[in-house]
Amino acid sequence: MSEQQLHFNSKTIHGGQEPDKAYGAVMPPIYQTSTYAQSTPGGHKGYEYSRSANPTRTALERSLASIENGTYGLAFASGLSAIDAVVKLLAPGDEVISTNDLYGGSYRLFRQVFEKFGIQFHFIGLQDLDAVESKINERTRLIWVETPTNPMMNVVDISGISVLAKKHDILLAVDNTFATPYLQRPLDLGADIVMHSATKYLGGHSDVVVGALVVNDKALAERLYFIQNASGAVCGPMDSFLVLRGIKTLHVRMQRHCENGREIAQFLKTHPKIEKVYWPGFEDHPNHHIAKSQMADFGGMISFIPKGGSYDEAIRIVERLRVFTLAESLGGVESLAGHPASMTHASIPKDEREKSGVVDALIRLSVGIEDFRDLIADLEQALG
Ligand SMILES: *Cc1c(COP(=O)(O)O)cnc(C)c1O
Repeated sequence: MSEQQLHFNSKTIHGGQEPDKAYGAVMPPIYQTSTYAQSTPGGHKGYEYSRSANPTRTALERSLASIENGTYGLAFASGLSAIDAVVKLLAPGDEVISTNDLYGGSYRLFRQVFEKFGIQFHFIGLQDLDAVESKINERTRLIWVETPTNPMMNVVDISGISVLAKKHDILLAVDNTFATPYLQRPLDLGADIVMHSATKYLGGHSDVVVGALVVNDKALAERLYFIQNASGAVCGPMDSFLVLRGIKTLHVRMQRHCENGREIAQFLKTHPKIEKVYWPGFEDHPNHHIAKSQMADFGGMISFIPKGGSYDEAIRIVERLRVFTLAESLGGVESLAGHPASMTHASIPKDEREKSGVVDALIRLSVGIEDFRDLIADLEQALG
């Protein structure tokens, strides 16, 4: 059976993987080495120096490509270094269109690092395809999509944007960190590049910081590989191993994240002390129909605003949680709670933040895979 024919839940385990050639080890060994012996200058077995390539990283890169239905995978030292590599495809004068409730770190990289090099960024609501088209001009080179967005859970129509991108010959990159390929596969929907913070659901155990890109086009893969090797922000062998191990259980974890997410979202929606809940699975979510058509389920990320909520009230709630841990990050087996205004999105100016809905009282949950009854009891006591 060829690998392309495998279903997703088998690709997570077997995709791009084969037993180690030396001893048949079922898991790829951690090739903790910087360099490789050569019999004569240039006479090597495919590996010369671990910035350029490392067998454990290769195993991860093949797995990443497989689960995203792509051809080429690249593993980086962090999600942000993967994004950094994509923007380095551009040149001064080029323009980028992105979403106005972008992950805070991506926003900081775009505004505070790359604007200095003459690249211009436009942040708009990507849910509005007309608004996207009206921002496109002859200098637009890249559209950077996140969906669902962080932390407002807006859903962007990847196929719709890809039609615009193709029409104007613009690269389309999708940050697929929140959804994972279990829920949506952007390359199948017309994107050119899929990006991950593998730190989150792919790794899944909050024990590693890794980034990834997956593409189909060979020339694009070669340009990105050149940047990866030239800039050097590669994923180390131990970290590659950990993400490979995480990916093997991605589908079972995601199934439970989605089930628990649904329970928590319903609980919050009917709770008298809650003002508003953001979760793409609700039928009254403004982009529910798109979420339903491009995602297999709705995930475990939920944001909410407590009634009459203030900055202080939100802080009190997150401090009272006991099963949920107050922490940055998301996508691990354990449930986390965060306060975007003071944590993940603190680097975005308050007025800009509030324009996209990231108000002071907003709380974001990464629902883990514990027993959901314990999570609900914990929320109940914290809100009480
Ligand atoms: C965490 C995150 C990133 C950045 O990834 P790092 O691994 O922390 O560098 C980018 N996008 C999204 C949506 C994230 O959640």
